[in-house]
Amino acid sequence: MPVILECEGNYNNMRGGDPKLPMCPTCKVFFDPYRSGFPGRVKSKYDISITSEHMHLASPRLKEFLDETCTSPIEYFETGGGYFVLRPKREIVLDMRGFMIDGTALCKTCGEPNGVYSDIQGEVKILAGRQPVGPLEMVRSRQRFGERRQRDFLIIIGDQLAESLCRGKFTGLSI
Ligand SMILES: [Zn+2]
Repeated sequence: MPVILECEGNYNNMRGGDPKLPMCPTCKVFFDPYRSGFPGRVKSKYDISITSEHMHLASPRLKEFLDETCTSPIEYFETGGGYFVLRPKREIVLDMRGFMIDGTALCKTCGEPNGVYSDIQGEVKILAGRQPVGPLEMVRSRQRFGERRQRDFLIIIGDQLAESLCRGKFTGLSI
């Protein structure tokens, strides 16, 4: 079964308060936080870690591993020192039962929920009828998680990819 890619936080803020990024005027969520790339200063002591906006940051070693191993396409946004923000190209829809949703109202302007937290670990349910995640694939959830502006997709990986990552002793992993 596929699992959520859980990793250590690195407390970086990738987007800052970039006023040029289009955002919802009501809830201030960025429509496409990846649009203008990232400042060239972000590194991490981990091979894989998550920024304060839930973006996934990979080391050069991890990118090399994924280039060789992962069977689904990933976009890489280079930051500083050869580190990369990851965005898997394939998107899936998660079954939201099992997730904690804070706030009953959706934003009246953009329709996004005000706060969605992932509080499950390990096995994830993918909405029935959708294509499953292959054993060596890395995909992203269509749903975004986090509080208002600090919101992003979850990364979900196939079971063989999860095993290979563990065997490779990549730091920052908590799967
Ligand atoms: Zn909104």
